[in-house]
Amino acid sequence: MDLMEHQAKEIFLQYGIPVPKGMVLYHESALADALSTIGVDKFGVVKAQVLTGGRGEVGGIKVVDSLTQAREAVRAILGMRIKGLTVEKVLVEEKLDIKNEYFIGITIDPESLPALLISPKGGRDIEQIAKEFPTAIGKYLIRLKNGLPSFEVIELAKSLGLHHTLWGGLVDIAGKLYKAFCEKEATLIEVNPLVETEGGKLIAADGLLNVDDNALFRHSEFSQLRKELREMVLKDKGVDYIDLGDGEVGLLCAGAGMTMLTMDLVVQLGAKARCFIDMSHGVNPVGFTAALEVLASEPGVRYVLVNMFGGLTRMDEVAKSMLQAIESMGAKFPKPMVIRLQGTNVDEGQRIMREAGYEVYSELEEVMATLKKILEVAR
Ligand code: GDP
Ligand code: MN
Repeated sequence: MDLMEHQAKEIFLQYGIPVPKGMVLYHESALADALSTIGVDKFGVVKAQVLTGGRGEVGGIKVVDSLTQAREAVRAILGMRIKGLTVEKVLVEEKLDIKNEYFIGITIDPESLPALLISPKGGRDIEQIAKEFPTAIGKYLIRLKNGLPSFEVIELAKSLGLHHTLWGGLVDIAGKLYKAFCEKEATLIEVNPLVETEGGKLIAADGLLNVDDNALFRHSEFSQLRKELREMVLKDKGVDYIDLGDGEVGLLCAGAGMTMLTMDLVVQLGAKARCFIDMSHGVNPVGFTAALEVLASEPGVRYVLVNMFGGLTRMDEVAKSMLQAIESMGAKFPKPMVIRLQGTNVDEGQRIMREAGYEVYSELEEVMATLKKILEVAR
């Protein structure tokens, strides 16, 4: 799981890594608040919060000098598409007086050891540094039992020609990054750029943190974040996903009204919806793949109820998209799934599903009765 910049920076803060003062906004109306939090004299930078780098080059990062400029920047950036992702929030931060930009990060090396990387050519991505300045990246393999000794960081800094006034700060930040890397079971933690201010301070101007998906179940502190990120990723694919926290049935519907009705019907069976997914704008293989992947992987979801009813939505397309999605995930959907298809081209849609070995119903009563049986057997 990748964290967004502002989420990574929150973790940095917890570990004592200096970050610029800032605030997350979903709407320009919160700007005045941000201005007073950050301080009028320190205002500011507006940064798109999306899960991709290279925001600067496409106008996703703007340095501003006044509230008016900030407002314009927030307006321009919110809703912007960056590499196919829609910007739904911005991070407004204090402006930094940048003297130098460095790179510092810890990643898993091909030898499966954590590797500390430092470069004096920060501000561009690491692949670009590697290409343009191959000798300007220093690497130290962290042998776990030794931890990250200060002198090794200093040796690395020295070998890169970094001035001795930076060594102390780098040792401090590298140590904190390593602690966060281990405790959060990260696969990558990165500060790029690590800014040296005109005042001689080191501060994390950007942050990247990737947490090992297989370790997420050990980190309840990320569960809220995980939900949020998942909702966001799905929304980008035209799929609305709502996690309800408990229950055992995952719902896949089209349209808010149908979703609500289906939820009520599940309750009448003495069960509860764990989550619902509204496919309204995502009836295509990409949307279905995203939706079915969530339903397949979410451990709380034990049964899946698909209730697709549509006039505009063609059921043969629903069927084809669903099957294509299931195929891309593996041979067969891994959980009990009951399906109702009704509406335009329903005969063709049902034929396609049946041919692929799925039971399909036309009427709501029928599909609910089938779900009821499955639930009874399980109990
Ligand atoms: P990325 O391009 O998506 O990785 O975004 P970054 O957060 O790394 O920012 C890209 C560049 O914007 C940095 O390398 C800086 O040069 C510039 N930048 C970011 N924050 C600030 C800031 O607070 N002040 C100034 N002047 N420039 C900034
Ligand atoms: Mn960056």
